[in-house]
Amino acid sequence: PKIVELKHINKTYGLDTPNPTQVLFDLSLDFERSTFNSIIGQSGSGKSTLLNILGTLDKATSGDVFINGFDTQKMKKNEVSQLRNESLGFIFQFHYLLPEFTALENVLLPYKITKKPMTKEIIDRANELLDIVGLSDKKNNLAMNLSGGQQQRVAIARALINNPEIILADEPTGNLDSDTTDQVYELLREINEKYKTTFIVITHDRHVAEKADRIIEIKDGRIHLDIYKNKQ
Ligand code: ADP
Ligand code: ADP
Repeated sequence: PKIVELKHINKTYGLDTPNPTQVLFDLSLDFERSTFNSIIGQSGSGKSTLLNILGTLDKATSGDVFINGFDTQKMKKNEVSQLRNESLGFIFQFHYLLPEFTALENVLLPYKITKKPMTKEIIDRANELLDIVGLSDKKNNLAMNLSGGQQQRVAIARALINNPEIILADEPTGNLDSDTTDQVYELLREINEKYKTTFIVITHDRHVAEKADRIIEIKDGRIHLDIYKNKQ
């Protein structure tokens, strides 16, 4: 099966209020394994809503979300949590690192959430990931003492700790300067090639979007453009 499939997604906020607003309209979309996809569109067009539904962080009002062929709408809450923890990694603009924990501890956090026992293998993996993002020498520094770009690289390593098949990123470089932005995207591309991780990345930066295999433009809660580039 496709790694992610959305079928006829509608999303309305505020259904229990006098002023419900529909933000996604009969949206259907699927993603091929190991591809690098970007989602663009104006502020308020529904990109984050779409990504949150894709990532099972929020529910569609109607429609189906399949991940690896599993119909997440039909799964129990704890089964969806397990699928999310095992298959998905998230990177956000504001990285939500724990400031008073070290880089290494932050990277290990999503693993701790799975409540599996700490092993040498997982600590080795965390160290390897910190090496890949170029922060081996900072692994014992507290997150709050790292620069914005370094913190974002810790967040990327953290998103990879459980070896997710899919990374969902919402403006991952939104608060970084353009040089650091380029470095972070190069890093995401390397990870895509090395681990065959599927990437779905929201960006407002067309220059960044152009580097993806596919660009999807959302306009007023609908797919406005869907352009395939290299690879697919
Ligand atoms: P984008 O990511 O493209 O900027 P969003 O998905 O964040 O768009 O928002 C789409 C629309 O949905 C906007 O009009 C926004 O105000 C509205 N919206 C987003 N989240 C909520 C929410 N939790 N409750 C009500 N309205 C929301
Ligand atoms: P559960 O339903 O198991 O309690 P959570 O809602 O805590 O699951 O989220 C599961 C995963 O999604 C976690 O690994 C967490 O890293 C990620 N996640 C959820 N919301 C956010 C967020 N706002 N910022 C960063 N990661 C998030």
